[in-house]
Amino acid sequence: MSCIFCDIAGGKIPSQKVYEDDVMLAFKDLNPQAPVHVLLIPKSHIDSLAQIDGAGAQTVAHMMEKIPAITKTLGCEESFRIVSNCGAQAGQSVMHLHFHLLAGRQFAWPPG
Ligand code: 5GP
Ligand code: ZN
Repeated sequence: MSCIFCDIAGGKIPSQKVYEDDVMLAFKDLNPQAPVHVLLIPKSHIDSLAQIDGAGAQTVAHMMEKIPAITKTLGCEESFRIVSNCGAQAGQSVMHLHFHLLAGRQFAWPPG
């Protein structure tokens, strides 16, 4: 089954990479919603947080552990928002787990 983020993780589709290691990739969102808008994805396919198992949780833990370094690289370590839309009603449009990293402007809460 074709998956756009698997293709980005595999280098078949180019992306503006911010951080990469064996487990994950961070790259700039094509349609940024804030001055900083980066997507954090696991390299291996997981549909969303609704499918997380033990191995997936380890992957997610690894991704969370990298946030301080990634935000420092982007110069937004003081204030940022992490969002994962899970399912169509929550706004998920790409069915490969991703965390939006957003920063550089004021954000509303609740998000609407
Ligand atoms: P979702 O709506 O699933 O929470 O977020 C998907 C995000 O992926 C959107 O913010 C959208 O702009 C971004 N996106 C979709 N296709 C591509 C692509 O080919 N390249 C990049 N860099 N971002 C993409
Ligand atoms: Zn995928």
